[in-house]
Amino acid sequence: MSALKDELIALIAQNGPLTIAQFMNVALNDPRHGYYATRPALGAEGDFITAPETSQMFGELVGLWCAQSWLDIGAPNPVNLIELGPGRGVMMKDALRAAKALDAYRDALAVTLVEASAPLIQEQARALAGHQIAWAPTLEAVREGPSLIIANEFLDCMPIRQFVRTQKGWREKVVGVRDGALAFGLVTDPLPHDEIIPAALKSAPEGAIAEIAPALPSFIQTLAARLHAQPSRALFFDYGAAETTSGDSFQALRRHASADPLDAPGEADLTAHVDFAEVKRLGEACGLSVAGPISQGAWLKALGIETRAAALRKAQPDKAEMITRQLARLTAPDQMGGLFQAICLSSPGLPAPIGFA
Ligand code: SAH
Repeated sequence: MSALKDELIALIAQNGPLTIAQFMNVALNDPRHGYYATRPALGAEGDFITAPETSQMFGELVGLWCAQSWLDIGAPNPVNLIELGPGRGVMMKDALRAAKALDAYRDALAVTLVEASAPLIQEQARALAGHQIAWAPTLEAVREGPSLIIANEFLDCMPIRQFVRTQKGWREKVVGVRDGALAFGLVTDPLPHDEIIPAALKSAPEGAIAEIAPALPSFIQTLAARLHAQPSRALFFDYGAAETTSGDSFQALRRHASADPLDAPGEADLTAHVDFAEVKRLGEACGLSVAGPISQGAWLKALGIETRAAALRKAQPDKAEMITRQLARLTAPDQMGGLFQAICLSSPGLPAPIGFA
């Protein structure tokens, strides 16, 4: 039994059930026993493998996209290159290697990693040894100035709340205690009004589940403040559909297998799908230009991943099969290529970002 599970059971016994967002927040961010404080484990040996961990091609193409975006925003020197939730630092490492193609860009870069996990900060420092890197706890804390912001599987860490459509209206799904164990339940009283339910789901049938990320609006506002202050651009990749859909996407991953999210809080990664339609709507409501969402596969192909894969296969014939497998994993519609989307939020008035045509 995890230490955090005991604490959560005691907390709920005292204060009543937690929203799923509150539960996620404790399980991920508890300073002593939370997942980020103790054991975020990426990569082949860890709990999950991400796109940059799958192949160097991903980070390299993101790096080229950043170099082109730097030209698009007027080639400022210095320019912030900010990565949100950089994991083991692999994407930044590959992106910086690709930046070598453009000297003036590389010389202008001021790199900041926004990371919540102390053990991961250490891994990032190791992976990026030899580069000048700064760290910040939040996007707000990064120094001002024109910024290129990149993030893979960062938005899916945002805590979500869930609401279930019942005969009597929308009721929140919460985490309580039953027979001494953590268990899901529904709040007895339905919501007095359905303002919090996404417009696309308001008339969903009985049994439908609506998910919302309560911190998303303020995050997009923070981003928008930076993008309005100086010509800047942000690129996000994540799990999720291009449209707002109903359904339960709250999941725990432990050693590449999905686990019961309530089973071992603090020991598994907890995520939910990103509502890309909502990211777009919020971005536009803040006056930003939004490109996408489009599928990750389409974006990578537009950036030339097939040409890059062919070059790598030619350079390393013994790895050709592996490179072909990696390419499929990143781009195939039934794999990351279709399950993940890319979206770009820009200061208004910039040239269209590459990859989204
Ligand atoms: N981008 C990496 C890692 C994805 S996992 C990759 O693709 O391989 C999610 C990352 O976001 C981890 O580094 C995690 O510690 C970080 N993270 C999650 N929530 C965060 C927050 N609120 N602030 C900063 N970093 C966060």
